[in-house]
Amino acid sequence: MTIDKNRHLALDIIPFSMPFSSGNELANVSEVLRSGHVHGDGIFTARATERLVEITSADHVLLTTSGTHALEMASYLLGMGKGDEVILPSFTFPSAADAVARTGATCVFVDIDPATGNIDPQQVSEAIGPRTKAISIMHYGGVPVDVDAILSIARNYDLPVIEDNAHGLGGSIGEHRLGTVGILAAQSFHDTKNVHSGEGGALLINDPSLVERAEIMREKGTNRSQFLRGQVDKYSWVEVGSSYLMSELNAAVLDSQLESFDDIQHARFGVWDRYSQELEEWSAENGVRRMSPPLGIHSAHVFYLVMADWESQTALISHLRAAGIIATFHYVPLDSSPAGRRYGRVLQPLTQSEDFSRRIVRLPLWAGMPEDYVTRVIAAVAEFPGR
Ligand SMILES: *Cc1c(COP(=O)(O)O)cnc(C)c1O
Repeated sequence: MTIDKNRHLALDIIPFSMPFSSGNELANVSEVLRSGHVHGDGIFTARATERLVEITSADHVLLTTSGTHALEMASYLLGMGKGDEVILPSFTFPSAADAVARTGATCVFVDIDPATGNIDPQQVSEAIGPRTKAISIMHYGGVPVDVDAILSIARNYDLPVIEDNAHGLGGSIGEHRLGTVGILAAQSFHDTKNVHSGEGGALLINDPSLVERAEIMREKGTNRSQFLRGQVDKYSWVEVGSSYLMSELNAAVLDSQLESFDDIQHARFGVWDRYSQELEEWSAENGVRRMSPPLGIHSAHVFYLVMADWESQTALISHLRAAGIIATFHYVPLDSSPAGRRYGRVLQPLTQSEDFSRRIVRLPLWAGMPEDYVTRVIAAVAEFPGR
């Protein structure tokens, strides 16, 4: 069977997104295969790790098998378990909740600020109780959370912040680069993200006291990392861990992409800015709100429109589909999902998460999206009567 990733060209369909390719991936992968070092922690891992440190300014970066696994490591590193509660937004990807529920802890879902789709700091304060173990945040679409508000709450209650930065690589707010807000942060390199390795992730560690345990946890509970650095003369099983180490094949792909990070971001912002500018008038006339990051610098991970209601969300998606354009809604709130009901609770109905989920439409966006595709999407949207 052959899979043609350019099938959409023949059908003249504009896909929602396309994984980035720098063009150097194959050369890097061949180099790994020739080198004889194909497992994790080789030269491409070292290079990609260094680039991530440079982009985020995180103190320590460990490449992992996925973003979900990085979040899972964060939970275990903070000693999360049965009886603990973690506060997190309902409008997010399931991984943040998986990482909590897996340890036996309970998810306490809170609402979002409709201006950004990000966790509402006021609701975080209200949800804190004696069992609260951590606050988990996610920068939706790469738009920074109100970090000052969250950090001030975290300081007041002496709680760690876990940062899901799957969308936010390259973003910043005030003096904080995204990925350094939490004591632990997770990146994802799934192929839908700005930078990818097929599947993959990274754990960013912003408290040096957690580094040694994180290395051990990532290497099946052994002190192999210390052994490789010559710090111990044999390695053994010292803790319960798992196998969270990224393969050198994935790191070879990741490194070639990170090398092009500035170009990727420049290309994504090119598309993002055109949508924002060229849909301004149409939005104003039709009661539609464009994604408009109020705080900090975002990462151009998505571009979305907030429609008047659910009917117009559905109608715009159908209208674009008829024009051969794949646009989509996004997360279904976790608190009302089957697993969310079992592993989580809420203090009150999360009306903003529900409303946001039923109104947003994400437009196609990727680095390298042809100009005429962007033009076609804008023209098709502008033909749509908002209400
Ligand atoms: C993609 C994503 C993840 C999961 O990352 P994987 O690498 O696929 O495990 C987690 N959180 C958010 C917000 C994501 O977008």
